Amino acid sequence: MAFEGLSERIQNALSGLRKKGKVTQTDINQATREIRLALLEADVNFKVVKEFIAKIKERALGSEVLDSLTPGQQIIKIVNEELTQMMGESAVALNKSDKIPTVIMMVGLQGTGKTTTAGKLANRLMAEQKARPLLIAADIYRPAAVDQLKVIGNQLEVPVYEEGVNNSAEDIVRHGMQQAKENKNDYVIIDTAGRLEIDESLMDELKNVKEIAQPDNIVLVADAMTGQAAATVADGFNQALDITGVILTKLDGDTRGGAALSIRSITNKPILYVGEGEKLSDLDIFHPDRMSNRILGMGDMMSLIEKAQQDYDEKNAQELAEKMRENTFDFNDFIAQMDQIQSMGPIDELMKMIPGMANNPALQNINIGEKDIAHLKAIVYSMTPEERENPDILTPSRRRRIAAGSGRNIQEIHRMIKQFKQSKEMMQKVSKGNTSDLEGMLGG
Ligand code: GDP
Repeated sequence: MAFEGLSERIQNALSGLRKKGKVTQTDINQATREIRLALLEADVNFKVVKEFIAKIKERALGSEVLDSLTPGQQIIKIVNEELTQMMGESAVALNKSDKIPTVIMMVGLQGTGKTTTAGKLANRLMAEQKARPLLIAADIYRPAAVDQLKVIGNQLEVPVYEEGVNNSAEDIVRHGMQQAKENKNDYVIIDTAGRLEIDESLMDELKNVKEIAQPDNIVLVADAMTGQAAATVADGFNQALDITGVILTKLDGDTRGGAALSIRSITNKPILYVGEGEKLSDLDIFHPDRMSNRILGMGDMMSLIEKAQQDYDEKNAQELAEKMRENTFDFNDFIAQMDQIQSMGPIDELMKMIPGMANNPALQNINIGEKDIAHLKAIVYSMTPEERENPDILTPSRRRRIAAGSGRNIQEIHRMIKQFKQSKEMMQKVSKGNTSDLEGMLGG
């Protein structure tokens, strides 16, 4: 997960305070010192860290903490609020024009993911608003950029306006805008050139394109892996072009947090979306409050629920609820559920979105990987249709046959059947409204 190291260190710094009935100045100094180091190590900009720590200290010594019966919890709440503030406040949407087309100009250094993100945005707008975007290929310097955009356009079935690489970016954009008007596209997304670093001729060209396209949004695409350097780049683009927002890419990688936590304070411009993978569907709205919750190990139920809604087939869910009530959940359903869950992404990442799960010691050693799921599936597939529907008939000899058929050892078969029966019992309880076991599991 992104921010793993940061998250762990901040949580450690705060864990001592959590249950304290009384918090002293020394406690606060110690916790803030550790948080400060954690942020610096995550490559958050020095000035941003300094201001953040000053605010935490000021508020931690104020009456909202000292007069509270749970001062430790209050401090954690303050850290959460200030972390949220540091990354923005709430999610910010793209500007939309009153008349069509709404123009989005993508800018950024080479290799940050600008072209890919242009496609991701088109994909998102089509899914959300049934938009009819036009992509304009105005990156004439990186040889493959025009072709890459064409491939993306093909994949999404979105028109791409291009003139190869021999005409000027200005002309291409002028003509592309004309085409969008003729074809009544409601969005235009312009992929512009990048360089390895900010230089004057690049900025001049981008300023000209801005003048021609009159964009409603100038979105800087920045690579989260580059840490606070991304914030410096954002600052440079903002000063030259007055950007309207940032999309942070590669948050799926081993990012430490420096970019996400510095950009807002340095540029005063919002992070709109984050890229969390190479697929065209891997673009998520950035929610500062949820990100802060994740960093503090408080889970992110909202995102989990949204993900589930996005990926979950409603009819399937209703059938499942029915089966739980009637206690007819069998191994076929079990496999169907596994498939559904797998389609949502890595399971350990999903688990971390549940409050209390991220640092729940009982779950630290649970590691449900893709391989384990493959094994479970192999076991179920070695059962006869009758056995899948009726786990109670799984006698020792049948279990031995299944072990041989799936290439797993017999203990594993026993364990899996036992777990299946347990989860079935748990589901029954939940469906009848008795959740005390579950709450115990969540530390509630
Ligand atoms: P451009 O030069 O800025 O147009 O960059 P590209 O769009 O060509 O992207 C550069 C590389 O980054 C490509 O290999 C993309 O697949 C990859 N990339 C872009 N966004 C993401 C992301 O959110 N996560 C990951 N893991 N890779 C990404």
